[in-house]
Amino acid sequence: MRIVADLKRCEGLGMCESMANDYFEVDEDEELVTVLLDSPPDADRAHVYAAVQACPVLALSLEG
Ligand code: SF4
Repeated sequence: MRIVADLKRCEGLGMCESMANDYFEVDEDEELVTVLLDSPPDADRAHVYAAVQACPVLALSLEG
């Protein structure tokens, strides 16, 4: 499983960070997300998926 962030869509709204701050960090100046760990273990799938789903502009997706 891999987290993919589409930085052209990201508006720095921070929902992903608030749901899973161990995986996502938002730069408030640049208003862009950084994926801290893009290959989460399967045990974290539900946790990461919830954060991906929380993005209001659909900038996040999971592959694999
Ligand atoms: S929730 Fe979406 S728009 Fe907001 S920081 Fe995360 S990726 Fe960017």
